[in-house]
Amino acid sequence: MFKIMTPGPTQVRENVRIKRSIEVTNPDLDLEFYDYYRDTCKKISSILHTENNVFIMSGEAILGLEAACASLTETGDRVLVIDNGIFGRGFADFVKIYGGSPVLFEGEYDSPVDMEKLSEFLKNDSKFKYATVVHCDTPSGVLNDISKICKLLNDYGILSVVDAVSSMFGEEIFVDESKIDIICGGSQKALSAPVGLTLLCVSDNAFEVMENRKQPVASFYANILNYKNYYENKWFPYTMPISDIYGFNQAVDNVLEEKEFVDRHKKIAEATRISIENSGLELYLKAGFSNTVTVIKVPLGLKDTEILNIMKYKHNVMIAGCFDCLSGKVFRIGHMGENANINDMCMVLEALQKTFLDLEYSLTCNLKDVFMEEIQK
Ligand SMILES: *Cc1c(COP(=O)(O)O)cnc(C)c1O
Repeated sequence: MFKIMTPGPTQVRENVRIKRSIEVTNPDLDLEFYDYYRDTCKKISSILHTENNVFIMSGEAILGLEAACASLTETGDRVLVIDNGIFGRGFADFVKIYGGSPVLFEGEYDSPVDMEKLSEFLKNDSKFKYATVVHCDTPSGVLNDISKICKLLNDYGILSVVDAVSSMFGEEIFVDESKIDIICGGSQKALSAPVGLTLLCVSDNAFEVMENRKQPVASFYANILNYKNYYENKWFPYTMPISDIYGFNQAVDNVLEEKEFVDRHKKIAEATRISIENSGLELYLKAGFSNTVTVIKVPLGLKDTEILNIMKYKHNVMIAGCFDCLSGKVFRIGHMGENANINDMCMVLEALQKTFLDLEYSLTCNLKDVFMEEIQK
């Protein structure tokens, strides 16, 4: 087995795996399950600092993103797609599938959204039903300031849809204060539960817009309205994946039990970045570093596949390359959730050191030593 240090899926703690295998009840008919589900959701609302309700859906996080677009979009709706990353741009596809008309606000992929430019843009054109933005765009690791962005959108009466799949729990998020209407997370990133669940946190405004649609939502599975009154009606749109939710609930408790959860991500990420920069390797981003993933440029003369394969097959650590326009250009270390710990990071950095030695590419420091010095500061 390799050590998995990719930006999701992350390692799953034993107590989560055990919780997934306990005996179950019938989640449709046993009314206690509705309370269990609601309690799990409420814990997430508290982590996100919001009064808004959370809903857990059965499906990978892509389902959550699609559900937000499916539930809000009607034919011809103009939707602002904030594009400073691969996931950012990807929202345009969902908007189109459901008949909307995406308008891109394009930013640099190596920097966070420029608030001045966005502000200028909106002064000229703000007739959008909603806007989409990614918190941490994982392929580049850029972290956008969703607090500023969503507040600005709210000033213009534009609903916000945020993809926080790879940032949620690893970065602090203030949903109410930031006026975020829909924010999406997944089970397999910083939460460190297995792949398969997505969560959406939905504002009253967003529900109102969905309820006032003229056209019905062109999906059943991805229709958020089907969840709205599950508790009062004691009805879910389909049988809930109860074992997955048991494990998910344990993973949420793990987050809640650790007071330093977000801080741990910050410490690990900062030390990693300093160690990489000291070594002569280059970080991809100019600014706006997420604390959940480190994205490093493939040095001139080397291939990403060489680095990844030596890491994996010779030194037993799996890290990730990239795709789309960043394919071949960068490699990525995921340090989110269970992965964000000193021992595992030391293992990755030692493996990376050996890999570059194997490739006869000289680094100007010992990655692990610099990392440890920073951690101990
Ligand atoms: C992981 C992730 C998703 C979910 O997509 P998969 O690649 O299919 O797991 C969505 N958005 C972001 C920003 C992600 O990091």
